[in-house]
Amino acid sequence: MADNASQPLEPILDLDRFRVDPDTKLSLNRIDPSGTPGWDADERAEAELRSVLLNQRLESLQERLWAAGSERVLVVLQAMDAGGKDGTIANVFEGVNPTGVRVASFKAPSSLELAHDYLWRIHQHVPAKGELVIFNRSHYEDVLVVRVMDLAPEERWRKRYRHIREFEAMLADEGVTIIKLYLHISKDEQKERLEARLADPTKHWKFDAGDLVHRAKWDGYMEAFEEAISETSTKKAPWYVVPANRKWYRNLAVLEILVQHLEALRLEYPPASPDIATIEVPD
Ligand code: AMP
Ligand code: MG
Repeated sequence: MADNASQPLEPILDLDRFRVDPDTKLSLNRIDPSGTPGWDADERAEAELRSVLLNQRLESLQERLWAAGSERVLVVLQAMDAGGKDGTIANVFEGVNPTGVRVASFKAPSSLELAHDYLWRIHQHVPAKGELVIFNRSHYEDVLVVRVMDLAPEERWRKRYRHIREFEAMLADEGVTIIKLYLHISKDEQKERLEARLADPTKHWKFDAGDLVHRAKWDGYMEAFEEAISETSTKKAPWYVVPANRKWYRNLAVLEILVQHLEALRLEYPPASPDIATIEVPD
């Protein structure tokens, strides 16, 4: 870990730019997916330098989180296909000690999972003390894909907004810090990324023909995201909408959001035992 990461960094991006306030109605078409709010669009190199510092700081904060073993941090990542969830995890958490950090990816539910309520599979992956867990997709799929692809009737999924608010409120009351990130890309950007997967043999494994089925329902997904985010962004479990067409900006913004949340926890190393100075290691 870099020594210079032991001090907090002055925040540069104001999180209010991305946070969806409770009781407001989100309009995604008012947020430019190519935007770089708070940053000059041509200052990519500087943004990347800043991201390196933030990543080192994240490393340092995560070490304290694990060492102290008292707080729990949950990061929820949602986006359209090719929206950059995997890339964000790889970039933002690069170099962070995997001990104490875990990614939970939620795919289409298995028959066992479907035999339970939709939060059953989610709850078991919520972080334990000292852990930081990243949800790559989440319980939000149950009001997104389920709604858009008509996998359950409206009377069923609509009640889930309330369940989710209450579930997350319970987690927050029990000491889980919840940070929810929607990576906002444009339909054109998704096309380019899917085409890049088709063109590059090393990316073929990422291509899923099913993505085209979801893409055909783009507008329905935007509506579902708008409503899900508006209905479930709360003070204790806020949603952040991150413009994500430009990967360098997305990484920077996500790092700023995570680092600012972790700084607010005032994480300290646990106190050493009082006699530590007198302990000698025998030969
Ligand atoms: P990927 O993240 O690209 O591996 O794809 C996972 C797929 O699982 C996506 O198409 C999701 O929409 C789908 N999925 C995740 N959760 C659910 C769910 N609760 N119900 C139905 N499909 C889901
Ligand atoms: Mg996929």
